[in-house]
Amino acid sequence: METLLPSEIRDYLLGVDDEELFRIADKVRERYTGKKIYLRAIVEFSNVCRNDCKYCGIRRSANVRRYAMSVEEIVKCAHYAEDLGYGTVVLQSGENTLYDSKIPEIVREIKETTKLAVVLSVGEKSFEQYLEYRLAGADRYLLKHETSNSELFYRLTGRSLERRLECLQNLMVLGYEVGSGNIVGLPGQSVDDLVKDVLMFAEWDFDMLGIGPFIPCPGTPLERFPPGDVMLTLRTIALSRILTKNAHIPATTAVRTVLGEDKAHLVFRCGANVVMGNVTPEKYRRLYRIYPGKVCFFQDPESWLNEIKEQIRGAGLKPSGEKGESLKRKQKATNLEKGLYRDTREAELKGQDTRQQT
Ligand code: SAM
Repeated sequence: METLLPSEIRDYLLGVDDEELFRIADKVRERYTGKKIYLRAIVEFSNVCRNDCKYCGIRRSANVRRYAMSVEEIVKCAHYAEDLGYGTVVLQSGENTLYDSKIPEIVREIKETTKLAVVLSVGEKSFEQYLEYRLAGADRYLLKHETSNSELFYRLTGRSLERRLECLQNLMVLGYEVGSGNIVGLPGQSVDDLVKDVLMFAEWDFDMLGIGPFIPCPGTPLERFPPGDVMLTLRTIALSRILTKNAHIPATTAVRTVLGEDKAHLVFRCGANVVMGNVTPEKYRRLYRIYPGKVCFFQDPESWLNEIKEQIRGAGLKPSGEKGESLKRKQKATNLEKGLYRDTREAELKGQDTRQQT
């Protein structure tokens, strides 16, 4: 069951058979990504944001104390992540122009002094900026499209989905490993919007996908709306796993916040194969409050890492500090060597399963 009709995706999202869905997603995860659960470190280096997304606690008009870490502090966090045994560091911030010229310096410094893969998640930038960051050594980029409903996207962010997708396209052209993702349960989002999200994940063939529930944040225009349903989020993760096969899919902080950190293993059993540990210095961590109750607010990075490793092992899986490059890249390179890439892609587009041939 690795190709699904939109009507079948819809039925599963509505909960027609969770047991079957999660069992298959778990099997697909195991088959395409193995037993490894990749550990990534995240540094949330600034909450300064020029955007005013209605769901986000660090939106421009939110009344929060702003911070902007120095280049040295950010690089120090990357070193700390490497010392803890991580192979990848994610550098995330609100969308701002403060770091436009500093990012190349930060990336270069990290690449020269560590073996880490560097992931950027700093929002919408020009093609030239993405090129500059790539030339400095950035390996990957995360930019969630949030919702494939362009009207809803505009209503909630005040910006255009078309522009966001253009950014994703540019990142792909520049050879980044690219991650997108969505928020599940946004006010005004329908099940059909989620069907479209999942189909889009498969069609764009993203290397990574971040899928998390909407969590209402006090002080934002959406503070009184109900949170995204956790089961609906797990179903979206499971369906994305089944359709994309080997994308890297994290058990996001948002889903772990809603489920409780001791239940992260359940997300792996629904198809996730990655988890991110927060290595932002404590004095800043609590100010990156995109929603309340984030699981990483209070625990120190080292004890969190030990606990999550235990949990992963307890679920019969293997924590991995490897870089964990895109499995899609590897597969495409192998197919290319065998001269099979075109045939495989064409057959995939026709909805056939070609794994027997490769
Ligand atoms: N500026 C970067 C960008 O736009 O991609 C990264 C920072 S942004 C704060 C990171 C992610 O937080 C967004 O992609 C969004 O999905 C998520 N987020 C923000 N507010 C949220 C909320 N209330 N509930 C769930 N996710 C939220």
